[in-house]
Amino acid sequence: MLTLNNVEVMYGKVILVLKGMSMHVPEGKIVALLGSNGAGKTTTLRAISGLLKSENGEVTDGSLEYAGSVITGREPEEIVKSGIFQVMEGRRVFEHLSVEENLIAGAHTRRERGSLKDEMEQVYHYFPKLKMLRTRTAGYLSGGEQQMLAIGRALMARPRLLLLDEPSLGLAPLLVKEIFSIIKKINEEQGTTILVVEQNANVALSIADYGYIMENGRIVLEGDVESLQSNEDVREFYLGMS
Ligand code: ATP
Repeated sequence: MLTLNNVEVMYGKVILVLKGMSMHVPEGKIVALLGSNGAGKTTTLRAISGLLKSENGEVTDGSLEYAGSVITGREPEEIVKSGIFQVMEGRRVFEHLSVEENLIAGAHTRRERGSLKDEMEQVYHYFPKLKMLRTRTAGYLSGGEQQMLAIGRALMARPRLLLLDEPSLGLAPLLVKEIFSIIKKINEEQGTTILVVEQNANVALSIADYGYIMENGRIVLEGDVESLQSNEDVREFYLGMS
């Protein structure tokens, strides 16, 4: 569904951040993109979403293909319309709006017209907590609830490909487990393809079909989850086992 071919990204025309990044995300699967701080994971997501221009970054070589078309250099609005939706790192919700208003705002970008109510019920099916909190101002939600809302808002757009940037960030382990099991459920029930960027390799591999490990702007290792989990280097450096 999504393929990156040797993508190169530069910031400010001097700093090369992606140095020939290649990866593939098959339709209907969950792919984990792992790697340490500063490896270039967020930059990869921005390149896919067309968000680099606003940050001065630029794809200077290689190409991105999605659903049979080259999408390199496309505007973010066009990318969203084609069904790719990114949930940013740090749970960016509209803090002054209620939970329900945040969800309605998410529906604004959806591709097909459908009943807003049905879409909202679908979000509440995955996140029953949000239903209970639907009139609450988003800024007063806990970190975990805000992460649920950020994902819920993305679901309102009925994405074909969901890009998740560090959904575990700053959340207690139990909550991380809960959110990842909901992500898996969305993938299984809706068939939504998911690319999840994580520093928490353990939890990402617990739901993924396939994983990529990124270091210093390129992929250094890839494989199905079992092979990554049994790889000595991965166990030592990413999974905290030896
Ligand atoms: P993290 O997990 O910390 O977000 P990451 O793997 O997502 O790390 P990126 O955020 O993609 O990494 O950053 C990759 C590199 O690009 C880092 O060295 C970062 O300092 C640099 N970088 C990111 N944004 C910019 C920018 N706007 N201008 C210049 N350099 C940038």
